[in-house]
Parts: sequence; structure tokens; C-alpha cells
Amino acid sequence: MTRIMSFIAAVLFAASPALGQDTEGQGSRTPADWDVHDRERPRPMVVSPAIPSTDQAVGHAPSDAIVLFGDVSSPEGLSVWESFNGDPAPWKVVDGYFEVQPRTGGIRTKQGFGDVQLHIEWSAPMPPDGEDQNRGNSGVFLMETYEVQILDSYENDTYPDGQAASLYGQYPPLVNAMSAPGEWNVYDIVFRRPRFDEDGAFVSPAYVTVLHNGVLVQNHEEMTGPSGHRSRPPYEAHADRLPISLQDHDHPVRFRNIWVRELE
Ligand code: MG
Repeated sequence: MTRIMSFIAAVLFAASPALGQDTEGQGSRTPADWDVHDRERPRPMVVSPAIPSTDQAVGHAPSDAIVLFGDVSSPEGLSVWESFNGDPAPWKVVDGYFEVQPRTGGIRTKQGFGDVQLHIEWSAPMPPDGEDQNRGNSGVFLMETYEVQILDSYENDTYPDGQAASLYGQYPPLVNAMSAPGEWNVYDIVFRRPRFDEDGAFVSPAYVTVLHNGVLVQNHEEMTGPSGHRSRPPYEAHADRLPISLQDHDHPVRFRNIWVRELE
């Protein structure tokens, strides 16, 4: 009897790591408990999107939103955007969406924003090309500083704090809710900016909530500071309003239906 019990216990124990991935998720959410880009960090569970990809943009900008790119067609093109040197945004505008023009550099809004709700739709290149971080990589930066990663994370492994909908270098998404390459993804982001006092001293951190395809993937996470590659730099005082920017990572990622609501 004892032998049977210990056999059952051994089987359960052996199975527990796999069970743990489903029931306990990723373990600690505290960035300090993990090295930046730690490849030992558990992979978020793959779930199906709550908002499936459609040919048409998802919803319409609410009446109090600032439209950064229209949901049907955008005769204004990228007129509210500019390149980082202030020149007109050089990315390719096609009917209903625009596309990263690789190696022309990122683009940013001419207007600055602080606390916001941001809706943005994006699509990774089809057919997929490359792997790991070298597939469908871009990024949306709040205040040009705090990155919600854009990456083709559909059947494409990478370090979890750098996959799609991660807060880059800090927090993997709670789950992986990716649409397939060529299909559309929706991010709904709520961002609360960090606070600094009038002398530039740090007062409070940035907080970020993200829904990816209608699935909660970042739940009011406290950012450790600016997003960094292989680093977690500390906060540095900056303006209360700074542009939203999109990253050129050499991949022709597409965007459509972008709108922002100011929360301050
Ligand atoms: Mg990126």
C-alpha cells in the first residue's frame, strides 16, 4: 500500500511542472526576480484571441479621442506623425493602413501625451521571415520611453520579456493571445505616466495595462523605469507630455486604426 501511494506521489510530482505551467503561470511577476531577457523565464500560455482578426478595423474612435490614423482610410496619411528628426514621416501609407519602411527610422506623434488610453492595431509580415526577435519586430513607445513590444510571437519563441505585448525587458504578457502573421492584432493600452516633482526627483512610477486581442495581458504593472535592451535603467525626470512613437526594427509591420484618449 505504501509502495502504491509513493508511486502515485512520484507520478503526480513528476507531472507537477507541466501542471504548474497551466495553473500557476509564470511564477513571480517581479522583474527583479529575473535577469533581463532571461530565457529561463516560463513561457506565457497560448490562448486564442477574444477579438479575432478581421479585414476591417476594430471599432471606431470614440468622440473624445484624438485620431492618429483613421479606421477606414486616412486621407491625411501620417500628417500627425513625423520622423525623429522632424521630417515628414517616411513610412508607406496604403489604403486603410500604413507600413514600416525599413531602415528609415521610427516615427512619433507631433503632439505629446501623458496619461492615455491608446488603441492600436498591427499586423506582422506574411509570410513570416526570420525567427526570435528578428520576426515582425516593432514597438509602441509611450512617451518615447516605455515600450509595449510588437513582435510576431505566433509560434515564434523568444525571451518572454521580449515577446509580443511584453513590457520590454520587464514583464512578459500574462498569456500569448497572438493572431497569425498577416492577420491583425489589437492592443488596448492604459498608461499612467511616472511623476517627478518640480526639482526632477522621482515621485511615482509608470503603470501599464494592456489588452491584446481583447485578452488582459498586463494588469496595471509597475514599470521599473524606461525600457532598455539588456538593461533596466532607472527613472530619469522628463516632461509631463512626450510623443508616442513606433519603432523601425527593419521589418514591414503594418498599422491601422490608432486613436488615443487623454486621461489627464
Ligand atoms: Mg521592439
